[in-house]
Amino acid sequence: MFRIRFHGRGGQGMKTASRILGSAFFHAGYEVQDAPHYGAERRGAPVSAYVRADRRPIDERGIIRCPDLVVVADESLLAIAARSILAGIDRHSILLIVGHEAAMVWQERLNVPGTVLTLPTDAPRFSGVACAGAAARLVGALGHDAMTEAIGAELAGFGDKAVAEGLTLAEAAWQAMAPHAGCVSEADELPASRHAPPEWIDLPADPVDAATPAIHAGATSAALNTGLWRTLRPVIDHERCNRCWWICSEFCPDSAITVAADGTPQIDYEHCKGCLICVAQCPPHAIRAVPEQGVTP
Ligand code: SF4
Ligand code: SF4
Repeated sequence: MFRIRFHGRGGQGMKTASRILGSAFFHAGYEVQDAPHYGAERRGAPVSAYVRADRRPIDERGIIRCPDLVVVADESLLAIAARSILAGIDRHSILLIVGHEAAMVWQERLNVPGTVLTLPTDAPRFSGVACAGAAARLVGALGHDAMTEAIGAELAGFGDKAVAEGLTLAEAAWQAMAPHAGCVSEADELPASRHAPPEWIDLPADPVDAATPAIHAGATSAALNTGLWRTLRPVIDHERCNRCWWICSEFCPDSAITVAADGTPQIDYEHCKGCLICVAQCPPHAIRAVPEQGVTP
């Protein structure tokens, strides 16, 4: 069985990547599972998706714990979500990182037992399509036609232009991975001992009147304190900030950073959801992530 995990940020198309790869496997005669894994609406926050594909019926369920291939669509994620991205990687696993650092740098930095590959790209809009094209080439069990058919079907609803752009990106990724074509191998059947029991969390039940939300009107997002679900808080070091005035505020997916007339950025913690894109993007590293627990409001 092939077990493939995609990691990216909300909005980068990881669900699309898993659907394209899953469809390509399906049309090649495999039984397939593909599913995204994310929480509440958090554009820019870490999300993942997975694909299982086998010639035999698939009985395995849930998140992939022992991947054959892990694709990371955004190298900045490795600074904030390395634990979940690297989970279960062993000597036979392939880790593909989309970004500009060399594979050797990541191999040393992460000290992972498997092989690390990189895919340079400047195309964030359809990075999910590029990830799917690269994964299809690395898997080796899928032909070029299966990949292009799956992309055409998945993006058809977005129009011919989107399909053409997606095919171009996927083709570039497919070609870039040619030296490593077929390097992903199917792992042996997993023994029961590698299936760790779930870590159950007991949640107290609220009474129905407290647990059932009532929505009385639309357009309430300004009044909604979305910052409540943040676990890490971005904190600006104003000594280090060089008042570039636009990078952090432009990249914030929730417009939670405003810039004063003198170029000083300010974070609206009522609506900052803690995706930490600003931390990854700030050129002089003037924004750091601080655990929310224990921070004085
Ligand atoms: S301020 Fe930073 S951490 Fe908060 S939502 Fe914006 S980009 Fe994400
Ligand atoms: S990106 Fe960094 S340097 Fe630029 S305004 Fe924001 S905090 Fe300051």
